[in-house]
Amino acid sequence: MFNLNSLLRENIKNLKPYSSARDEFKGEASVYLDANENSLGSPLTKWYNRYPDPLQWKVKEVLSSIKKVNPENIFLGNGSDECIDILFRSFCEPKKDNVIICPPTYGMYEVSANINDVEVRKASLTSDFQLDLIHLENLADANTKIIWICSPNNPTGNSLNRADIETVLNNFNGLVVVDEAYINFAKQKSFVQELADYPNLIILQTLSKAWGLAALRLGMAFASAEIIAVMNKVKPPYNINQATQELVLKALEEVGQVNDMIKELVDMRDALIEVFKEIPIVEKVYPSDANFILVKIKNARKVYEFMLTKGIVLRDRSNVKLCEDCLRVTVGTEKENTLLVDAIVHYIQQS
Ligand SMILES: *Cc1c(COP(=O)(O)O)cnc(C)c1O
Repeated sequence: MFNLNSLLRENIKNLKPYSSARDEFKGEASVYLDANENSLGSPLTKWYNRYPDPLQWKVKEVLSSIKKVNPENIFLGNGSDECIDILFRSFCEPKKDNVIICPPTYGMYEVSANINDVEVRKASLTSDFQLDLIHLENLADANTKIIWICSPNNPTGNSLNRADIETVLNNFNGLVVVDEAYINFAKQKSFVQELADYPNLIILQTLSKAWGLAALRLGMAFASAEIIAVMNKVKPPYNINQATQELVLKALEEVGQVNDMIKELVDMRDALIEVFKEIPIVEKVYPSDANFILVKIKNARKVYEFMLTKGIVLRDRSNVKLCEDCLRVTVGTEKENTLLVDAIVHYIQQS
């Protein structure tokens, strides 16, 4: 049986959270002398002298209607990366607990584990980049607090089989994080509508990819109200700044424009995959449900360095297990994609 309380670190269970001025007084008043802000204002507009809403309710209301999830089931972080760190700090006791990751995958799970001194166990994906359920089951023990699943996966680009993720959710009594940073580009549907079925499910999404707002730093976690409450207790009081909250509210009005960009990126991705398949030194183009493509290419490191001389930066994954001789390519603009393909043709001619 799943029991959230038994997963929590003892110090977090007993934690009395910081109570900010904005927590202690909620409501409307005309004179605010409770937070040591600058009453005269700021060099910018009159609003930035005040601390922002610690729980970002306006942003959550709008996200709630877009994602069809209650605001109580939403946590906002300074990027998904903050959500990842807060989950480690809330649930994983350093030097005692462990987590399982499924490499090749997003690097921050391991970095965050290392910062928090939490053991990382690795159940590598299969050769077709799917979950190895038997290995996962063998690695999990009583101290395994979180299984990290990334779907669509970075750097491979594919979605993981939904039935496999459901098997993990049904059989593991710890937390299962499904990182859906690239879900908007995928044919697979999100897990956000399944929260009621899985008390151990945490979904991560971000405005950094499909929404084009990497610089604003807004990550989302969707989970049970109990899990969200723990994350709120552990987070820094004002983790999402006022400028980000305002700009995100403006951006969220433009769902239509974002959907158009997603469609355009997906079309360009599929076209680029076809072009790559025709290039002689390309040995394999992996299927992608994301806004990037993993390409296995002869002498990947040499190609990577040649591209640099042309001013084109790719992601060299050739030293990553299961990604030997692979480069990860983000889908660019039409013009950037053409420059890339032309540069590869030049490389072939001169080598
Ligand atoms: C890019 C990426 C993120 C990024 O998150 P931020 O919200 O920008 O911190 C998270 N997970 C994966 C798998 C990513 O590729």
